[in-house]
Amino acid sequence: RTKATSGNNFLFYSAEMNAHSLERLNMENELRRAVERNELLLFYQPQMSLRNGEIIGMEALLRWQHPLRGLVSPMEFIPLAEETGLIVPIGEWVLRTACAQNQAWQAAGLPAVAVAVNLSARQFEGQDMVALTAQVLRETGLDPSYLELELTESAAMGNAEAFIGVTEALKGLGVTLSIDDFGTGYSSLSYLKRFALDRLKIDQSFVRDIVQNPDSAAIAVTVIALAHGLGLSVIAEGVETEAQLNFLRTRGCDEMQGFYFSKPLPGAEFEQLLRERRKLVFPAAAELPVQTLLLVD
Ligand code: C2E
Ligand code: MG
Ligand code: MG
Ligand code: MG
Repeated sequence: RTKATSGNNFLFYSAEMNAHSLERLNMENELRRAVERNELLLFYQPQMSLRNGEIIGMEALLRWQHPLRGLVSPMEFIPLAEETGLIVPIGEWVLRTACAQNQAWQAAGLPAVAVAVNLSARQFEGQDMVALTAQVLRETGLDPSYLELELTESAAMGNAEAFIGVTEALKGLGVTLSIDDFGTGYSSLSYLKRFALDRLKIDQSFVRDIVQNPDSAAIAVTVIALAHGLGLSVIAEGVETEAQLNFLRTRGCDEMQGFYFSKPLPGAEFEQLLRERRKLVFPAAAELPVQTLLLVD
């Protein structure tokens, strides 16, 4: 009897686990084929100067156009791609596509802006990112100063001593390096100084309640000061409201990215923004006090 019960339990769990792992395996196989089937695509979100309101860059954000599931968010498949190592070929596709697209827009005479590409920690383990970046720049003909690589704190701090050399080699290619989601991971300030960085991105979790929550406000102001103190520029992510924009602008934040100006857009729509040289119109109430202007410039 006991034997039969445990046998049933085993069958029960095993069936449930099978359903879960089959679903996962299924998704993994589909993701594996997504690249060759041309199901991956990039959206582009503009990055705006808080000095003159101009588009100074764009972040390439991955989407998966699944035949049945529709447009799948990276939050739903990047973790699986990272666990399975598929992020290595997918990340290579993203880098190549973003550089080729940017080069094509510049060749068509559109205003030249940088493209920022997200990199996972796993990509640095799976391949030589310096060699790959050099190769992609050569193949696409993109001027390196128009490529920005977004690193995470975990990629940078995971093997920090070795990563110093990686940042220097990437910097040697002429690309821009930034730390994404800054403030949400573990950063050692002494390493932050030793990495060859250009920019910090204030995570959107601090921007979201920057106006209501004094702690988030204090963190944002401190990250701006930290970045500037280290000779880096700073961009805020997830800016959705006029109040957030005003707060950041009056505190000397250099750039912003967020739904207040634009969501991530399909290539054709982003191209239209560039073509029109669309600008961020600062709200009248945001006129900066003279003193702040002096401090900022
Ligand atoms: P991330 O790099 O921090 O990108 C910013 C995310 O915030 C994007 O989500 C963007 O759509 C969203 N966002 C921008 N402005 C606003 C705003 O005003 N409000 C709100 N609520 N959200 C805003 P998305 O496109 O879903 O990407 C999520 C994450 O997936 C990215 O976060 C990044 O970590 C990862 N990811 C996206 N594309 C790639 C890729 O090509 N490679 C890798 N390794 N990761 C990627
Ligand atoms: Mg990013
Ligand atoms: Mg981010
Ligand atoms: Mg993020």
